[in-house]
Amino acid sequence: MRTYRIAAIPGDGIGQEVIAAGIKVLETCARRDGGFAVRVDHFDWGSERYKKTGAFMPENGLDLIKGHDAILFGSAGAPDVPDHITLWGLRLAICQPFDQYANVRPTRILPGITSPLRNVSGPELDWVIVRENSEGEYAGVGGRVHRGLPEEVATDVSIFTRTGVERIMRFAFALARSRPRKLLTVVTKSNAQRHAMVMWDEIAAEVAAGYPDVRWDKMLVDAMTMRMTLRPETLDTIVASNLHADILSDLAAALAGSLGIAPTANLNPERKFPSMFEPIHGSAFDIAGKGIANPIGTFWSAVMMLEHLGEKAAAGRLMRAIERVTADKSLHTPDLGGTARTDAVTAAVCDALLGDNQ
Ligand code: NAD
Ligand code: MN
Repeated sequence: MRTYRIAAIPGDGIGQEVIAAGIKVLETCARRDGGFAVRVDHFDWGSERYKKTGAFMPENGLDLIKGHDAILFGSAGAPDVPDHITLWGLRLAICQPFDQYANVRPTRILPGITSPLRNVSGPELDWVIVRENSEGEYAGVGGRVHRGLPEEVATDVSIFTRTGVERIMRFAFALARSRPRKLLTVVTKSNAQRHAMVMWDEIAAEVAAGYPDVRWDKMLVDAMTMRMTLRPETLDTIVASNLHADILSDLAAALAGSLGIAPTANLNPERKFPSMFEPIHGSAFDIAGKGIANPIGTFWSAVMMLEHLGEKAAAGRLMRAIERVTADKSLHTPDLGGTARTDAVTAAVCDALLGDNQ
């Protein structure tokens, strides 16, 4: 029997609740499938640990998880720790050294869920956003001098490398090719950012030559927000820089009904390092500890994990179970306008998994 070693890092806030639910669902998937097992190792990394010890993870943290088959991550962020400290201390401290350069964010309107877009019933919105996840605007290059003085200066320098842009373009074109519509939109801002974004466009065109069967177009990021809202059916696969895709994917999540549903994979496509799967939402302080967090974003991330591990049948079964549950409005959590609790949604997904005879 195949056994997958999963590193679970629930982190902060509702991360604890949704990852506990996600592990239950993954274990049920394995039990139902019968062909594989999951062995989960738990890591208590996060803001509590930081406040006690001064570090989010132990010094040899990466060594402890680099042999795992995948990482399931909750959220990093606490009200009493500055967000840039948490992000760089935990999430990026894993993404960057493990070279998880492709951040993949599928968006669909699941059965039973209503889009805030008046004219969208479901099939018009079926996207995958590919976010460059290793450089660009979030490269971490910059500095701050003369603190507090009138002449204080702060810089965040965007870094775009040919290697970095080329590999994310190849990834996006290949992903677009694997989807039925074979359609890619390259998001840019080369009118205003005349160096890096112009190179970004040029490399997109070069890579496109190797994918003649993929139709592609280019869109300025500001105009892209309008197209996503007014003509969602004209989009399929989307590639954008770290910052642009960060913003566009929250918009995508909102248009699909709720941030609580949206999944992410941080992939190292070459598989030199483990990839990391997480819901796109954060710690949600306002609802943490109340037992009402929507666990669907984590379950959908688990689907992406199973696909990455090569467990296609189990991934399909879990996605069907999720869709059966979202179709039932009595199983909607408060973010979707319902009254269901995390536990009830989790139990319903597990029941749907065990009852699926495909
Ligand atoms: P958030 O995603 O935590 O919350 C935004 C809103 O969406 C809140 O009203 C919240 O209740 C709701 N929400 C989010 N997920 C939900 C779910 N699963 N079910 C029901 N409702 C849900 O974003 P924020 O408030 O901007 O950030 C809070 C903290 O989380 C910050 O510290 C931030 O830095 C951190 N954060 C971390 C990550 C990450 O680790 N990947 C991502 C985003 C934000
Ligand atoms: Mn974000």
